[in-house]
Amino acid sequence: MSRTGRATVMTGKDFEVREYPIPEIEPGTVLLRQELGGICGTDLHNWEFQRIEHDIILGHENVGIIDTLGAGVETDYLGNPVKAGDRVVLSPSGGYGFSPSEEQPYLRGGFAEYILWNPKSMFIIEKIVLIDHHITPFVRLI
Ligand SMILES: [Zn+2]
Repeated sequence: MSRTGRATVMTGKDFEVREYPIPEIEPGTVLLRQELGGICGTDLHNWEFQRIEHDIILGHENVGIIDTLGAGVETDYLGNPVKAGDRVVLSPSGGYGFSPSEEQPYLRGGFAEYILWNPKSMFIIEKIVLIDHHITPFVRLI
């Protein structure tokens, strides 16, 4: 039985929860199980001013746990080794959080249980500290 992941989809001014199939993980990509998703000003403005004409899974500032590494993925974009179970923070780029929600391979936005991601924009982090409900990720840069 194939796995699925739920996502919150913006449909105009409304939001609804939809379930998507999790595809086979392609070489060079990563499947993350999301833990935290920030609401960026861009997300807010995309909703407020309806700047995107298709249904979309917003969110592009996330922290997640590596679920599955695609073939050939051994490091984050800084060259740090990564493995399943590592916690990573995502640096927004590559259309993440802006792709149509109904376009395969799905799950390319941050407000979802799972995120399909390109490791060229993925940092590994050592820990997360919560201060007055603000998240401060400490990024391991070397
Ligand atoms: Zn942003």
